[in-house]
Amino acid sequence: NPENALGVMCSGGTIANITALWTARNLAFPADEQFKGVVAEGLFQALKYYGYEGAAILVSKRGHYSISKAADVLGIGRDFLIAIDTDEDNRIDLEKLRIACSELKSKKIRIISIVGIAGSTETGSVDPLEEMAEIAESYHSHFHVDAAWGGPTLFSARYKSLLKGISKADSVTLDAHKQMYVPMGAGLVVFKDPSSV
Ligand SMILES: *Cc1c(COP(=O)(O)O)cnc(C)c1O
Repeated sequence: NPENALGVMCSGGTIANITALWTARNLAFPADEQFKGVVAEGLFQALKYYGYEGAAILVSKRGHYSISKAADVLGIGRDFLIAIDTDEDNRIDLEKLRIACSELKSKKIRIISIVGIAGSTETGSVDPLEEMAEIAESYHSHFHVDAAWGGPTLFSARYKSLLKGISKADSVTLDAHKQMYVPMGAGLVVFKDPSSV
């Protein structure tokens, strides 16, 4: 069914993350009575129509550089990739995330996505995904989880609980060439709602 997609297979986690955040951007500025949607009219018209001054993506300071690449190619701008401080265990600081979200809201910046990390590339740390999902929901934002590296932990009966809350994600990135040992670049992005892509 060309109208539906549960996921996309691509060349790596970078394209998987960009695809997820592209979907998030498009869902944030949908078509409306007087507007054909950001897909047709572009970000400038989308912001004007919905009365925003900009759009942002939030992730912790441990976020992979592919997220800032996404902010660039999606027309949001790398300055609007907001990097939130982490705690002593390299997990996103929830209080700082909440403060950043409310500041963005007061500046009329649309939060298109909050990104949780399930296994950061340098430290292996997993963000508090459950709480992040709630924050994302309260801002009507897409909740993406970058599990490129740590995702296959879910296949372990012993360790899968480390990724508690990942089921609340709207989209998840997985890299088969990391812990699934596929010998060529193989990124995956899966979506909760098959009609969101
Ligand atoms: C490896 C990785 C990516 C994407 O990298 P690719 O080289 O494009 O597969 C994204 N996020 C995290 C957390 C990663 O570890």
